[in-house]
Amino acid sequence: MKPPAFPEGKRFAFSIVDDTDVATVANVGPIYELLKALGMRTTKTVWPFRWHGEGSNFASSETLEDPAYLAFVQRLAVDGFEIASHGATMESSDRATTEAAIERHRALFGTVPRLYVNHSFNQENVYWGTDRLDDLVLKRLYARVNGKPAGYYQGHVPGSPWWWGDLCRSHHEYVRNMTFSSLNVLRANPSMPYVDPSRPLVRSWFSSADADDCREFIDLVTPERVDQLEAEGGVCIISTHLGKRYVENGRVHPQVERALRDIARRPGWFVPVSPLLDWLRSQQPKDTAGSLPSGEWRRMQWRWAIDLVRRRLQRSR
Ligand SMILES: [Zn+2]
Repeated sequence: MKPPAFPEGKRFAFSIVDDTDVATVANVGPIYELLKALGMRTTKTVWPFRWHGEGSNFASSETLEDPAYLAFVQRLAVDGFEIASHGATMESSDRATTEAAIERHRALFGTVPRLYVNHSFNQENVYWGTDRLDDLVLKRLYARVNGKPAGYYQGHVPGSPWWWGDLCRSHHEYVRNMTFSSLNVLRANPSMPYVDPSRPLVRSWFSSADADDCREFIDLVTPERVDQLEAEGGVCIISTHLGKRYVENGRVHPQVERALRDIARRPGWFVPVSPLLDWLRSQQPKDTAGSLPSGEWRRMQWRWAIDLVRRRLQRSR
């Protein structure tokens, strides 16, 4: 595939989607300072609301209800970072709460989030769990390992208390589905962003590379892989949780800092994910824009599954 010619004469693109799990001003503030200083603008997801129940794995996270965190995120928006949605809060939310969260976002930032990312086991997730997949073999395998029964995720199911698919379609332009282990996402999904007619409540889907935490980021973003990304003229979007040990004692992990500085000194295009996807879409041939060839989709599902198993095995070591 011919590499795209990026704006401003840049030779590759690099961005991050930061899922907001366990994030606080203290544990992500310094890495955003670094990204800003390096001229990188990325995408940060947020939760507008606190969760008032007990026993959440994400209870240490700050939300837009925390004044210092809100001020921090509003500053990021002013500085050119994209503020996106990770749902209303860290556990499942009914339709009214999700709708209120979207309106809260609009009140705080003047606009609704263009990009949304499903979160963990939230039941309002759209097309999540086995509904992410069409391959029957993978659906069956995933149902066994995923720990939730088919039909558990219901954001896209009209009549369910978790239904908000119509709001997802009307408010959000981009939703993430598949994640992979290679930096250049166009290798796995050259047609992104794409439309999936069988999942009509999402306007456009995108894929990304995946690094759960700081350790996985360091393992993924090696100078050799960045050399390859640059040589291929690739597009790298990394899904990660910047709240997971990227910052310790107020300092960005030195290996992460080294990796980001290495990328920043190269001729890359460092914009948030939505403008990057807008631009990719503008480059698609008019007659096939947004369509995903069935062979590409079949390969994506298998590659996603294989990469997922590999990452899980590495984590368990
Ligand atoms: Zn999450």
